Amino acid sequence: MLKTQGLFFGYGMNFLLIGIDSLRADRLGCYGYPRATSPFLDRMAEEGVCFDNFYAPGIPTQPSFTTLFTGQLPTTHGIVAHRGRWTLDVQAPFLPELLSRAGYSTVAVDNLADHHQGWFSRGFEQYINPREKGTFPSCHAFNAVAMEWLTQNRTKPFFMFVHYWDPHTPYMPDLKYRSLFYEGDPTTENEGSLAPFYKRPLMDWWSTRWLDVMATEWPEARGKQITDIEFVKAQYDSEVRCADEGVQQLMGYLDNAGLLDDTMVMVFGDHGEELGEHGIYFDHHGLYEGDIKVPLIVHLPITSAQGKRVIDLVQHSDLSPTVLDAAGLPRPESMDGRSILSLLEGGSREIQDQVLLTEECTWMAKWALKTERWKYIAARAPDFYGKPERELYDLHSDPGEQVNLWEEHREKAAELEIQLEELLWRRLEAAGRSEDPVLTHGITLGKKMFD
Ligand SMILES: [Zn+2]
Repeated sequence: MLKTQGLFFGYGMNFLLIGIDSLRADRLGCYGYPRATSPFLDRMAEEGVCFDNFYAPGIPTQPSFTTLFTGQLPTTHGIVAHRGRWTLDVQAPFLPELLSRAGYSTVAVDNLADHHQGWFSRGFEQYINPREKGTFPSCHAFNAVAMEWLTQNRTKPFFMFVHYWDPHTPYMPDLKYRSLFYEGDPTTENEGSLAPFYKRPLMDWWSTRWLDVMATEWPEARGKQITDIEFVKAQYDSEVRCADEGVQQLMGYLDNAGLLDDTMVMVFGDHGEELGEHGIYFDHHGLYEGDIKVPLIVHLPITSAQGKRVIDLVQHSDLSPTVLDAAGLPRPESMDGRSILSLLEGGSREIQDQVLLTEECTWMAKWALKTERWKYIAARAPDFYGKPERELYDLHSDPGEQVNLWEEHREKAAELEIQLEELLWRRLEAAGRSEDPVLTHGITLGKKMFD
């Protein structure tokens, strides 16, 4: 192993990746949120490295975690929708497989392989699913399994992946968290703020399984309809706080077991969540900042990596190359991502493309191109929510992406459309693809609602 400022890189370092589903960056204190949703993650960011521009190049869950484990962009691996019919090519690199071959113990505490697609179990010697189908147990249930595995099975360096679901709908935190950020009567305050939500196609499902159930448990709301959107947002925030405590518990275990100084920990979101912005309620549809900008906080016990904020554009595809780099293993050429280890150590890396190309076709068949200032969104199929085919936002003057400038700035829109299509087709051709995967795959979950 090579010693770098007190830390050993190479075989011998452990890795813990904690993916928190549906966690958007701007609901954490370390990203500027005023509520105390993340006291532990804030401290972790202060003592470690916090990435200000970490983005998902493909959403939602399946494309995002596939991007993470393959180190490939969606244009390369082709998984562009959740619960689609496509499977991952067996030739695609997969991080746990590479680590297992190199002698690591590999374990996942997750349900993706069982309930969605089998490739997520590739390379994991143990794949433990603590989640019954249709249920969303809290992070503490996942931690219990993870800590038991660490206690009983750890005989050599490990790679552990843990997937929390707390901030995913339905936001129904344990009772002790429900008043954390909300007081009052959610059936009378801010009346009408949820009216558009109750007109949405998904409302019946959410209402019977979620809000009506919560109304029976909230003393002020018993038997009535919840009408205050701030109540629902507060429950999302409470779920974030719960996940924060989950990370604290797992890191505390590593510390007590004497493992923390030999373990690199990465905490991140797979995609974000819309909380009513853009008329999208409590789900991850669309390519707005709330959906694609997620947190990345890294614990690396070296002095130069303490309290660092990184502004470089980093994507999920960069995490596997980073782990391989830290483990002293070569990065397969078929990975698109680049190691961010030098950024973690306080240095810089080769200039990367500062333009983000991102997609989804679970609910909306869309591509977006994001530059430092502009975001251009192009739909390949009619929008589930009736949004226009083309959207252009000036992120400097309108960071909330509320004013579509497509009509007003047609020249800029045309320029970005050309840039988007050129970048997209250059990447597809490099990956040996002759068709746009978003078009070929087609909308998956949203299609059911159209039909
Ligand atoms: Zn997800």
